[in-house]
Amino acid sequence: MKPIAKSSKLASVCYDIRGPVLEKARQMEEDGHKIIKLNIGNLAVFGLEPPDEIVQDMIRNLSSAAGYTDSKGLFAPRKSVVHYCQEKGIQGVTVDDVYLGNGASELIVMSLNALLNDGDEVLLPAPDYPLYTAAVSLSGGRPVHYICDEQAEWYPDIADIKAKITPRTKAIVVINPNNPTGALYPDSLLQEIVDLARQHDLIVLADEIYDKTLYDGNTHTSIASLADDVLFLTFNGLSKNYRSCGYRAGWMVVSGEKRHARDYIEGLNMLASMRLCANTPGQLAIQTALGGYQSIKDLVVPGGRLCKQRDLAYELLNQIPGVSVVKPKGALYMFPRLDPKLYPIADDQQFAYELLAEEKVLIVQGTGFNWIHPDHFRLVFLPNSDDLSDAIGRIARFLDNYRKR
Ligand code: PLP
Repeated sequence: MKPIAKSSKLASVCYDIRGPVLEKARQMEEDGHKIIKLNIGNLAVFGLEPPDEIVQDMIRNLSSAAGYTDSKGLFAPRKSVVHYCQEKGIQGVTVDDVYLGNGASELIVMSLNALLNDGDEVLLPAPDYPLYTAAVSLSGGRPVHYICDEQAEWYPDIADIKAKITPRTKAIVVINPNNPTGALYPDSLLQEIVDLARQHDLIVLADEIYDKTLYDGNTHTSIASLADDVLFLTFNGLSKNYRSCGYRAGWMVVSGEKRHARDYIEGLNMLASMRLCANTPGQLAIQTALGGYQSIKDLVVPGGRLCKQRDLAYELLNQIPGVSVVKPKGALYMFPRLDPKLYPIADDQQFAYELLAEEKVLIVQGTGFNWIHPDHFRLVFLPNSDDLSDAIGRIARFLDNYRKR
């Protein structure tokens, strides 16, 4: 029989968060090993469960939510997203500008598919959340990574962004708060990005899925609230702030200057209708979540579980010789650096395999986030304090042996 090969469109598409190292971990689990998983921001599996009112509403709505909805979604949850935009200062948003999706992921892929012709460029952060790089490649576009500077709290390097804008640049992706670094951008920096977008006619794709997962009393500014003469697509959802990754409930808001984007919006509408609609129970949960008690606050305040775990992971990682990490201001991740003098790593996927094999700890290698050197990795600080201490203790022991090689 003729071999069945994958499409050549996938040649430069990769998503290492669920890549070959995870596959190895699965095999090890089948062989009876217990793996500590620091690889995915999947809160509920760590006992960080969704607010009960969301769960109860999902159950209550199931029997009456078996039908398709409008392609963009039901009116009431979209209206609740409009109110959310008003709270965040994003001007002029109507229900028509809101698209509900099976998670933000679906809408991110859709927005890039609708936008890009072969060879069109999109500016993406390095390190990035790799879905963006994968989706740009899958859409025939060219991912162009701008550097985020670890020495400057992982903020985007504006000079690098400027240097990488070409006549083919269509959009810039801003992930704030950031996965994998935990950075939270100041308004002045966001304004500089808006100014560049205005100057060069770029669409701003703003990923704000961690906008309520903020530590140390920080507040979040939606970049789309800073201008009404640039086109913004803002992505958000219930997965993280409401600990409901599995309910697959996300949204996208089109705002700012839309008049010159009618054709693009027509494309978005067409792709939204091709996938019929987002799952209906998940759509209904959006309204409950946004209007309900914002229990994420209890987890991120000093003494709250996520804040305590962030502080613990920060302290323990920085104690390991040759390891340094910037303290996250938001989100669920750390992106520690391994000093190349102590850890001369040539292949960080191999490094992740070895850590898994020797210590049964699963992390994601930094190059999986399109980081330029094999000298970082990402971990989630979601396990409870005891499990987190155990996991980082194992990483420390592995690194101790690594230095003695
Ligand atoms: N955007 C960022 C920055 C993420 O970290 C994630 C998931 O980890 C997503 C989007 C995916 O969100 P969703 O579960 O809504 O598809």
